[in-house]
Amino acid sequence: MEIVEQDNLSEHERIVFCKDRESGLKAIVAIHNTSRGPALGGCRMWPYHNEDEALQDVLRLSRGMTYKSALAGLDLGGGKSVIIGDPHNDKNERLLHAMGRFLNQLEGRYIAAEDSGTSVADLKIMAEETPFVAGINDRATVDGKWRNGDPSPSTALGVFHGLRAAVKHQLQRDDLKGLRIAVQGLGNVGFRLCEHLRQAGAKLLVSDIDPERMRTAVEKLGATAVSPEKIISRQVDIFAPCALGAVLNDESIPLLKADIVAGAANNQLAEERHGAMLQQRGILYAPDYVINAGGIIDIACERQGFDDQYLNRQLAGIYQTLLDIFARAEREGQPTNIIANRMAEERFTLH
Ligand code: NAD
Repeated sequence: MEIVEQDNLSEHERIVFCKDRESGLKAIVAIHNTSRGPALGGCRMWPYHNEDEALQDVLRLSRGMTYKSALAGLDLGGGKSVIIGDPHNDKNERLLHAMGRFLNQLEGRYIAAEDSGTSVADLKIMAEETPFVAGINDRATVDGKWRNGDPSPSTALGVFHGLRAAVKHQLQRDDLKGLRIAVQGLGNVGFRLCEHLRQAGAKLLVSDIDPERMRTAVEKLGATAVSPEKIISRQVDIFAPCALGAVLNDESIPLLKADIVAGAANNQLAEERHGAMLQQRGILYAPDYVINAGGIIDIACERQGFDDQYLNRQLAGIYQTLLDIFARAEREGQPTNIIANRMAEERFTLH
């Protein structure tokens, strides 16, 4: 196994490349910042075209994790790893074992979790070689059901708390009764979010490219089905993106008729400037990495052995964090995404 450290670092603490001829593993770990604790972040497997593309991705994602954990109030830093390869064709036990051994080289400064292209089962295989993986234990979720380490139930509950904070700030209301909420994407997070919203008395408009998921939401939750092209432009109180990134862009923002955007999807803003565009339209935006932090909170709690009560309190904390961001954004006349970044930066020190 060949391990190479990059030495001309700017913001990152460590960038480490691994090539293992025997298993075919090609991977990079980027540790952005550990001033709050060890860097925790997903291990992504993706068929990158070349090493530079993989490097850019891991640098960007690891930096994002520092901000996310800091604002979630966790004693964790930011890091991420990428395996260069096609998860459908190139993934096997030998490769995952090699990744586990690579993680050992970081001596616990970076801890891997599941991400796009890797599953809890894959992380369990890595765990045969290394203790530096997280989110792999079977246990009960916040909704009382049994699960295999998937943090989606916690993410959904965290988004629900965050969405209530946005309603409190923007609409001066403590409840969601009768509010019209458009949910884009009915996957692991989106569907569970719909269950919380329905229970809180909201009127649901839902969309998914998978017709089966739409049918289930209509039947089980009394939701109204909307086509994927139209969901963003419906007259609603809240738009909750829970599917794709970059849904808030030059084309979509003028179409929005919601007062609030609050949902689980990662990287909702196509570019940072789209936060200002939403602000100019008077639409309150709940910064994605703040409102969707339930997953990392869940994994951190599991790792530190905290019980469900503690986990629930931490998830509920997303409500107050967002209220603080909204209040400061209003005071300073700045977009919420800019204020969130600033507040995160006040919580860690750059090297
Ligand atoms: P998922 O893959 O289970 O669900 C995504 C759903 O969106 C699928 O049902 C898919 O069919 C649907 N979809 C795709 N394109 C669509 C479109 N154009 N219109 C409508 N629906 C569409 O994913 P998930 O785990 O529910 O995550 C949802 C989002 O939240 C992702 O952006 C993810 O990165 C983010 N997120 C998830 C977690 C977590 O704990 N799972 C944590 C943080 C952030």
